[in-house]
Amino acid sequence: MNIILLGPPGAGKGTQASRLVRKRNMVQLSTGEMLRAAVKSGTPTGLEAKAVMEAGDLVSDEIVNRLIDEKLAELDPDQGVIFDGYPRTGAQAEALEGLLAKHGRTLDHVIELEVNEEALVDRITGRFTCAKCGAPYHDSLHRPKVDGICDLCGGTEFTRRADDNEQTVRTRMAEYREKTAPILPFYQAKGLVRQVDGMASVEDVAAAIDAILDV
Ligand SMILES: [Zn+2]
Repeated sequence: MNIILLGPPGAGKGTQASRLVRKRNMVQLSTGEMLRAAVKSGTPTGLEAKAVMEAGDLVSDEIVNRLIDEKLAELDPDQGVIFDGYPRTGAQAEALEGLLAKHGRTLDHVIELEVNEEALVDRITGRFTCAKCGAPYHDSLHRPKVDGICDLCGGTEFTRRADDNEQTVRTRMAEYREKTAPILPFYQAKGLVRQVDGMASVEDVAAAIDAILDV
């Protein structure tokens, strides 16, 4: 089972990916982490990537594809892969086809966690935590039983994360749309795209993904 997991920040992609890693013994391949690992381990590809990044340049498709190739060669053929943050361009998507074939794999699904931008803004900007014990709350989803008093410790001061604001959420959404726009049509044409309601509860999203994978 090889899948691409798509979804904007806040859609719960990380939560669902780690669940698949745990429950199905899949491997999550995120290019960012693979790059960091390759640089750290000092492999020839890693050293090449490091030189490019230190020069302030973007790591080329060719290097990223080579990293994926090397990683796939290391894996147990029975282990499923979750691609996260890759491919990002049509060219990478086409290269991935070749790499998967080379390693005897095929892409089974492209699962997109769909979100409603307005609801996502509300979900993220409404978060706050107790300053004393860290208990999480939400303006509309989970308010303290008594306004202004923490249910758990009785604390009366609360904090909000600076990056949990509307502008940040909208910027992240726009970046996401920009990144997926080039690859979605490629996979739609192949009939591989499955949409899951990312605004549902963690359990419901997990069940929807299971239903797709277990067909
Ligand atoms: Zn508290």
